[in-house]
Amino acid sequence: RTFAALDSELVQCRACPRLVEWRESVAGTKAAFAGERYWARPVPGFGAEDAALAVVGLAPSAHGANRTGRMFTGDPSGDFLFRVLYEVGLASQPVSAAIGDGLTLRGTRLVSPVRCAPPENRPTTAERDTCRHWLADELDLLRPTLRAIVVLGAFGWQALLPVLSAAGWPVPKPRPAFAHGARTQLGDLAVFGCYHVSPRNVQTGRVTQPMVVTAFTAAASAAGL
Ligand code: SF4
Repeated sequence: RTFAALDSELVQCRACPRLVEWRESVAGTKAAFAGERYWARPVPGFGAEDAALAVVGLAPSAHGANRTGRMFTGDPSGDFLFRVLYEVGLASQPVSAAIGDGLTLRGTRLVSPVRCAPPENRPTTAERDTCRHWLADELDLLRPTLRAIVVLGAFGWQALLPVLSAAGWPVPKPRPAFAHGARTQLGDLAVFGCYHVSPRNVQTGRVTQPMVVTAFTAAASAAGL
């Protein structure tokens, strides 16, 4: 299986009725993007196909990736994340505007445990579990080169660890807890926790650019990047 084959199957997925309805009905409802054609489908991973570092988010936002069709592209969380990736030397430019803007990532791939935009950015646990196999399949393709993962937020952490465990990575029991700055070594894979770069976390000062740069610098180093 290739990334292209995986993505072409993924974008056809309609397994979660609530999310299918939302990702389509929310298109064009924000004045700033009125008249724009929305992607309104599951969002594939973005970045290197031989990535040593994966970044696990939460889910596409209604007017961000659900609009542009590219992971983390077109919303404030993504604007923050790409500034960090550029500062750490993992992105070719500090801005991710749209598919076709020339942006490339060095040794890094962005994925999310839920691939369709959920209302209020809150997938249900049933939706998370229904979507799990897409993340598992993508990590399986990355496995030959993957050495580190940054997980943005507790939702991604709780979604990811069972996937890693089922795929044979040595996840201890009880599972390590999520925390900003957490690091757990699973065989040859280092997993880092980082607060999500959501507007709420940024506006309240819970997360700052230096904090996230520090987390990504450690993860890039663990990945050999
Ligand atoms: Fe399919 Fe995942 Fe979207 Fe559900 S969230 S419809 S499983 S791609």
